[in-house]
Amino acid sequence: MYKLNNSSSTGFVWLVGAGPGAADLITVRGLRLLERAEVVVHDDLAGRDLLKFCPAGCEFHSVGKRAGSHSASQPEINELLVKLGQAGRKVVRLKGGDPMIFGRAGEEIEALREAGIPFEIVPGVTAATASSAVAELPLTHRDYSSAVVFVTGHQCAANTSALDWGALAKLRATLCFYMGVRRLPEIAGNLIGHGLSAETPLALVCEATLPTQKVLIGTLANAEKLAAQITGQAALVVVGEVVRLSSFASELPRLVAQAATSNDT
Ligand code: SAH
Repeated sequence: MYKLNNSSSTGFVWLVGAGPGAADLITVRGLRLLERAEVVVHDDLAGRDLLKFCPAGCEFHSVGKRAGSHSASQPEINELLVKLGQAGRKVVRLKGGDPMIFGRAGEEIEALREAGIPFEIVPGVTAATASSAVAELPLTHRDYSSAVVFVTGHQCAANTSALDWGALAKLRATLCFYMGVRRLPEIAGNLIGHGLSAETPLALVCEATLPTQKVLIGTLANAEKLAAQITGQAALVVVGEVVRLSSFASELPRLVAQAATSNDT
């Protein structure tokens, strides 16, 4: 499948994970593909520093999506990839993190398949593993968590039934919420409402692996206050006992005591 020197007249699209932000967290394969790309179709979030590795004359299409301002719709992106493929171009579709995790790669693959354009997926470091690394908290641990769940915060509004909150709360797993900061009050409320203790620790990891990275530690009880400290940055919410193992969690006992007091009142 690894066809860097694919020289046929048919186009080819590589869906490449750019990783979480730091340019040197892309895979070697992803970097080699960028170095030879004819066309790069990239997101906003995908580390912009990576584009400097593309050859002279490379054509760039920015289709970045930031919360609130969509510069290209998903059908438009699909259509662009198909059009470039049909024109025989060798295209790198660069996406933040891993393309297959909340990256809408599924829709792009479907469009390429339908149009008969060959493609390959190159994985990347996803926000959850990057956040785990920078916050120094293992997502799994023999004593604390035997499962990890990647959840989208987009569907967390109190009234949506898309997520089975009871099941999430019962799993006793590490829960990683992508796109969850703005919905953090609902997320915390739903988890507490379905049986998780208000003292369950959580970490908010902002812009993991970038120079601006920040780790905030709290509990479900003070989640709302924590979320208010983040404006406009990409951040991941990690909920679960493993958060106690983070070296940033020294404040946790005080917060848990505070949560207990406010529960009593
Ligand atoms: N495909 C991406 C996820 C895209 S959804 C991946 O695999 O990581 C976008 C969400 O990912 C953001 O809202 C945020 O929750 C998370 N995210 C992306 N980059 C991040 C980073 N550097 N630090 C923390 N969270 C990040």
